[in-house]
Amino acid sequence: MDLRLLDERLDAAGEPRFRARQVWEWAARGADSYERMTNVPLELRERLSSEVPFSSLRLVHEALASDGTEKALFETHDGRPVEAVLMRYRDGRRSLCVSSQSGCPLTCTFCATGAMRFGRNLTASEILDQALHFRRKEPVNHAVFMGMGEPLMNLDSVLAACERFPDIGIAHSNIGVSTVGWIPGIDRMAEDGPPVRLALSLHAADEALRSELMPVNDRYPLRDVLDACLRWHERRRRQVFVEYLMLEGVNDRYEQAVALADALEPRRAFKVNLIPYNPTDSGYRGSGRDAIAAFRAALEERGVRTTVRLTRGRDIAAACGQLAARREPGPAEDQDKPGGGEAREALVEQRHAVEDREDRRDVAHE
Ligand code: SAH
Repeated sequence: MDLRLLDERLDAAGEPRFRARQVWEWAARGADSYERMTNVPLELRERLSSEVPFSSLRLVHEALASDGTEKALFETHDGRPVEAVLMRYRDGRRSLCVSSQSGCPLTCTFCATGAMRFGRNLTASEILDQALHFRRKEPVNHAVFMGMGEPLMNLDSVLAACERFPDIGIAHSNIGVSTVGWIPGIDRMAEDGPPVRLALSLHAADEALRSELMPVNDRYPLRDVLDACLRWHERRRRQVFVEYLMLEGVNDRYEQAVALADALEPRRAFKVNLIPYNPTDSGYRGSGRDAIAAFRAALEERGVRTTVRLTRGRDIAAACGQLAARREPGPAEDQDKPGGGEAREALVEQRHAVEDREDRRDVAHE
């Protein structure tokens, strides 16, 4: 729910300060309406029901994969698409993948979200409402900011959301924030903010290639980004998770593994996660299993801790495609692009990319 609006309306109703906390605690524990909040006076519950929508997001579609992975597509009040995913593991972990922005202003060439038009930063409440959607179904205990957007470009909202995640059941040490290497954000996270995990989308150890894949590298070159990661590591005493997409013939050669290992000094500060690529319209192809295994071996020979990410929720990809085909563009989409629209692109993006994000859990699970 929009927690600012909640505060505002409680003030207007002359309610004591503790009411906001009471309402939030119910929501954070998975209540699905104001009616359930039995320690809040009935009249106030009714008033809130009409004045403060229970969620700041409207659920547009959901899909459930046979492995238990579930994803949801929402829309903000102004029609912006927002995606979130819940991954269910046999050992009881329940891990969320949340979005920090609708669309993304960065233009990583392999990323489908990067190809869509940037919408806007999400508010803390819009981030929390993604989590609460799933919390209403069952308890959750991990979260990664690996949905749409660059979390460190929306750090105020991301940190505000992180502050409240423990109320929902997600401890700070079980939260992973993934970044392209937005240095001011990394530095700020090192200095203050909750003790969450940090993941860096590295993808190429060579500056020129990285700039090609991720134009943001021109602004914040890898060398400087790694220095910022080391500052974070010094301060937080935690490993930085390095995400490395495996793109066939682009960044998967032996020498590139060697260059990556050379860049990751001291070894103890980093852990690499190799990511099989989900093809998009970008034209890149994912490296094959053998190439990924060889790359991993080259890293491990050099003492770099390396894992390979598995893919989950494949079958809901198809569901998303079907949803996208069925979906009519809404008014907000019409304004942006005739016949297509952001929500639809978001679904296509989901089909291509988010399925692989669904088990980006290592960051939060170490
Ligand atoms: N902006 C942040 C977080 C969102 S993206 C970041 O870049 O880290 C989360 C991860 O998904 C990033 O590592 C990104 O590089 C990766 N990704 C993007 N497109 C992908 C695709 N098609 N297949 C697999 N991973 C992808």
